[in-house]
Amino acid sequence: MKERTILIVDDSPAVRQLIKTTVMNSGLFSNILEAENGMEALKVFFKSKVDFIVTDVMMPGVDGYKFISAIKDSEAGKDIPVIMLSASRKEVVDKIKGLKIGASDYVIKPFDGHELVARMHVFIKLTELQEDLKEKNALLEKLSVTDELTGLYNRRYFYDHISMHVALAKRHDYHIGCLMMDIDHFKNVNDTFGHNVGDKVLKKVSKIMADKVREGEIVARFGGEEFIVCLCRADTEGAISAAERMRKSVENSDFSEDSSNPLKVTISVGIAMFPQKGLNNADDIIKAADEALYHAKEAGRNKAIVYSESLISSKDKKEV
Ligand code: GH3
Ligand code: MG
Ligand code: MG
Repeated sequence: MKERTILIVDDSPAVRQLIKTTVMNSGLFSNILEAENGMEALKVFFKSKVDFIVTDVMMPGVDGYKFISAIKDSEAGKDIPVIMLSASRKEVVDKIKGLKIGASDYVIKPFDGHELVARMHVFIKLTELQEDLKEKNALLEKLSVTDELTGLYNRRYFYDHISMHVALAKRHDYHIGCLMMDIDHFKNVNDTFGHNVGDKVLKKVSKIMADKVREGEIVARFGGEEFIVCLCRADTEGAISAAERMRKSVENSDFSEDSSNPLKVTISVGIAMFPQKGLNNADDIIKAADEALYHAKEAGRNKAIVYSESLISSKDKKEV
C-alpha cells in the first residue's frame, strides 16, 4: 500500500471510531491521525505530513469551516483533499459554503461507509493525477531551458536571464559583465579524436565552468562550442578575474581518454561590461562580448580580452 496519512477530525469519539474502522477496512491509508476539534486538528496537521482530511463541521471552538479555511490558506494544505461530514439540515446552503472555502466534497451523517470510501478514492486518484501533471510540467519546463548535451541552460534562457539583469542594472545602477567563451581549435579535437570524444570535452568544459561561477550566476551553452556567463554586480577587474579563473581551469584540466593519447584544450574569452557607452541592451552586450572574443582569437587564443569602443575602432587590443 502507498504511504498515505488521513486526519480524522470529529468531536464525537464514537463517530471518529466509526470513520476509523471504515478507513482501516478500505486499505487506502497506511496512517491514521485523529483530532477532536479544529484547533487540535490544525496542530496535528502542521506537525505531520497529512494527505487526506475528513472533518466534522460543528465542533466546539474552531469549527470545520474555520479549520478548512486555515488549511486551504496554507501552502502545505492548499491541494489536500478534504471531505466534510455533517448532520446539518441546512444541507444545500452548508454544502455551498464548504465547497466555496475549498472542501472537495460533503457527506451527510449518518454516512454510508462504502460511499465515503468511494468518494475518498475519487479524490486520491485526482490528487495523484495532479501531482503527476505537476511533475511532468516541471520536467517540460526544465527541458525547455536546458541544453540536452551539457545540461547547462540554453541560449533562450540565457537571453531572458541577461535581459532581466540589464533591466535591474539600469534601475539599481550596478554593473554587470558578460563572458563569451569559445573552445580553441575545437574542430581539431573532433577531427583527431572523433565526435564522441568532442562531446565528452564539451561536457567536461561545461562542468568546469558551472563549478566556477558564483551562486546566482549561470552558465549557458550559447552555441556549438560557445558558452556564456552573466556576472552580476561585477566591475571590470572582477570580470577579468572570473574569465581568467575559467580560462586557467580549462587549460589545467586533462581531457585525455588514455595517457598514450594526450588531449589538452584551451578557451578564449570575450568580456563586455555594462553600463558602457554604445551598449544599450542585452543584444548589444552579447555582440560586444563576441567582438572581444574575436579579438582574443586574433591575438593568439587562450586569452581573455575586454571589449571597448577603441578595440573596435582602432583594433587596439587590450589583452589581459
Ligand atoms: P576557433 O579556435 O577559431 O574557435 O576554432 P574552432 O575549430 O573551435 O571553431 P570552428 O567554428 O571552426 O569549429 C567549431 C567546431 O565545433 C565545429 C563543430 O563540428 C564543433 N561542434 C559544434 N557543436 C558540437 C557538438 O555538439 N559536439 C561536437 N563533438 N562538436 C561540436
Ligand atoms: Mg572554437
Ligand atoms: Mg565557435
